[in-house]
Amino acid sequence: MQTTAAVRGLTCPVCGESADLNSERCPDCGSVLTIEYDPTAVESVADAVPLADDAAVSLDEGGTPVVGVPELAGQIGVESVAVKDEGRNPTGSLADRKFALAVAAAVEQGAERVGTPSTGNGAQSAAAYAARAGIESKGVVPSRCPFLNKAMVNVHGGDMYVVEGRYADAVDAFGGGDEEFVPVTPGHPFRVAGATLLALELVAEGETAPDAVVHPTGHGETLVGLRKGFELAVEAGLADSVPRLYAVQPEDCAPIAAAIHASDDDPTPVEYPDTIVGPLEVTDPAAGSAAVAAVTATGGDAVAVPDKETLQGAVDGCEMGPEIGATGGTAVAGVRALADGDAFDSGDEVVLVNPVAGSKEADLLRSHLMSQGM
Ligand SMILES: [Zn+2]
Repeated sequence: MQTTAAVRGLTCPVCGESADLNSERCPDCGSVLTIEYDPTAVESVADAVPLADDAAVSLDEGGTPVVGVPELAGQIGVESVAVKDEGRNPTGSLADRKFALAVAAAVEQGAERVGTPSTGNGAQSAAAYAARAGIESKGVVPSRCPFLNKAMVNVHGGDMYVVEGRYADAVDAFGGGDEEFVPVTPGHPFRVAGATLLALELVAEGETAPDAVVHPTGHGETLVGLRKGFELAVEAGLADSVPRLYAVQPEDCAPIAAAIHASDDDPTPVEYPDTIVGPLEVTDPAAGSAAVAAVTATGGDAVAVPDKETLQGAVDGCEMGPEIGATGGTAVAGVRALADGDAFDSGDEVVLVNPVAGSKEADLLRSHLMSQGM
């Protein structure tokens, strides 16, 4: 693989084991892996891009806006709240940072086709980046996946397999039938690395790290990458301290939050998920143990929020700040619940990550308004 100068290999964020760059999981404990960097070689976000320019696959992802939401900061009694709007990536989600790197790494391994199960946005992003790289892709999505994602997978020329049922059924079906592809599945180290770049970008934009980051959480791979990025920023002298990371999950599908609250190292899969927030309906998180470690190591916490509060959070968020949907609405509902539990100090600078463009989830917000008689 044509890596950049700062890349040393992979390490396990749970047990510390090292692994070579082609590994997918920790050889010792099975956790997801993060890219290990030489901090003395990292002075900017660009230095932490793991693959050399020749190997890059890009649609100019990242560089998303950080939009201040002073009204929400006033409501919850903190110094500032800002939304890092990942909805403004090329296909409208945070997944673009991940597939830019994971698809490029797969191409470096000789892939002519990549594949992943997805709740929707990941399959769309994978199809877009595979097309950009000139290779094929396959996305396996549940029937409840939004039409927009299904349509755009096809528009980007990807193969799409719709599995009857929920996301867990798509995961079960993934890999069945044809094996002629390189997996870029949840927890892939280069997907995690996409979130590491997000952390470094937040540090660069704020000229240091914020005090807390609140993230709508499904598989947990973003939390793992954020922790790695902020730790790297501190080691590289770019930030003073690692922010507290807060995971927000839907109340009826909250395996990572449940593990954190029970002081378990490993989330227990949820048997009967029930949430309207499709992107977060992940019953068996791929990065579960590492996400728990990320939250606890940074002194953060987790919170599970009811769908009703999430939808209201989304609508309120759209009135106070940038357009967000149900997925981003969990961050608003979550930060409110965390503030009620005294998670924050009055001097805290808090960043909410909006992982998905609000307009991708317009139907959920509209039906919420209609249920309120509006
Ligand atoms: Zn391990």
